[in-house]
Amino acid sequence: MKESARGGGRFTVVDPATGEAVADAPDQGPREVDAAVARAHAAWPGWRADPAARSAALHAAADAVTAAGDALAPLLTREQGKPLAESYAEVARTAARLRYFADLAPESRRIEDGRPVRGEIHWRPLGPVAAIVPWNFPLQLASAKFAPALAAGNTVVLKPSPFTPLATRLLASVLAAALPEDVLTVVTGREPLGARLVAHPGIRHVTFTGSPATGRAVAAGAAASLARVTLELGGNDAAILLEDIDVERIADRLFWAAFRNCGQICMAVKRVYAPAGRYSEVVEALAARAKDVVVGPGLDPATRLGPLNNAPQLRRVERYTAQALAAGARAATGGHRLPGPGHFFAPTILADVPPDTPVVTEEQFGPVLPVLPYDRLDDAVEAANGTAYGLGGSVWGSDLDRAEAVAGRLECGTAWINHHAELSLAQPFAGLGNSGVGIAGGPWAFYGNLQPFVVHRPQPHAEGPAA
Ligand code: NAD
Repeated sequence: MKESARGGGRFTVVDPATGEAVADAPDQGPREVDAAVARAHAAWPGWRADPAARSAALHAAADAVTAAGDALAPLLTREQGKPLAESYAEVARTAARLRYFADLAPESRRIEDGRPVRGEIHWRPLGPVAAIVPWNFPLQLASAKFAPALAAGNTVVLKPSPFTPLATRLLASVLAAALPEDVLTVVTGREPLGARLVAHPGIRHVTFTGSPATGRAVAAGAAASLARVTLELGGNDAAILLEDIDVERIADRLFWAAFRNCGQICMAVKRVYAPAGRYSEVVEALAARAKDVVVGPGLDPATRLGPLNNAPQLRRVERYTAQALAAGARAATGGHRLPGPGHFFAPTILADVPPDTPVVTEEQFGPVLPVLPYDRLDDAVEAANGTAYGLGGSVWGSDLDRAEAVAGRLECGTAWINHHAELSLAQPFAGLGNSGVGIAGGPWAFYGNLQPFVVHRPQPHAEGPAA
């Protein structure tokens, strides 16, 4: 938990760039969870009844979010740390997602299988959905959950991370102008708030983004009511560079695929595999960019890289880096936290990293990138596939067909050629192993919030005399 103090049922949210308080938020508990779920149940029949009104309300919600950008973005930067331009992008993505799902409708269809029975598949909403979100993209990830759930006719109780509840609370009040009352409720507070929400018998679907450890606890908690569970968990994405790579041409893109949002992206590049013959060139190109990048408070227009969001995360990144250095890795640049207030860590490129150190095998989730050499491409592919995660991966080379053939060997949910971590709203986003269960994104997220309802009746000509 961020350096915060309980007092009068509220907790303090700290600006990661300064260490100072931004504001406080309600520290809610079981009573508020029970009330929010009860209100979500009460609001559900009205919300599910009229798809056209729902679509119009979600479009109005998207307009309201866009109009509130100048209030939402700076608050998001103050509690999360990211550069202001990235907060604006997050607000825009939130609005875009509302619009995308507002235009989806479930497809009812006939079953054509030659039987003398007319079978029809319909889709029904599930009921109140619990949405639990981490601190790296508070608005964007919240919308990835509530937009498909609401569009499908469910109501939502949303719990942000206690590190970043403020912009989410503001977002809820912005959305309240466009949505019927109690269709979306935000509860804030520290654990066991999320656990309580997950285990609530009135919740029909738990959609969670966060770490694999918490994901397991969420799956276990939801088992009591057998609520549906969707888990978007961590990633340890590898980028494999091929022999024919034009390093100067791709270095900026590769760097930012690892360092955007201070590396706190589930599908960021977290390991780079470079051919041994190009290794020094790759390390130097990345280190040059890491040295040049302007690190500072997100509200400073010059800043390209903000602080880590919270003190435990800063300590984790520091620990992984120290372990790698102690095991023989070399910091081509960085390798330490930065002086002064706030959770700043120097952008770090690690070379000669033993492949079994946690900064390679685990998810560092920070501005530290290990670069590993390989002799045989097969070894690089095996190493890329060799962790417990399977979220994304990328292959970089001048021959696109060859790069795509190598990408086809990656065991993950999304593979990119010559870029990384860019998603379409219309694509399924899913991972293997520790990276999660279920599908986010596109129509798959929409149907993940629906229950099939199938009707069979005899065809008129096939119906015999009534019994
Ligand atoms: P976290 O798992 O600690 O917390 C996530 C959320 O769960 C927070 O709101 C937290 O308060 C809540 N929570 C904690 N304990 C809970 C419990 N027992 N029951 C219910 N809820 C509980 O994760 P974090 O540190 O906030 O976020 C970082 C992690 O999220 C990283 O591992 C990252 O890879 C992952 N992530 C994944 C994706 C994805 O789409 N796959 C996207 C972003 C982040």
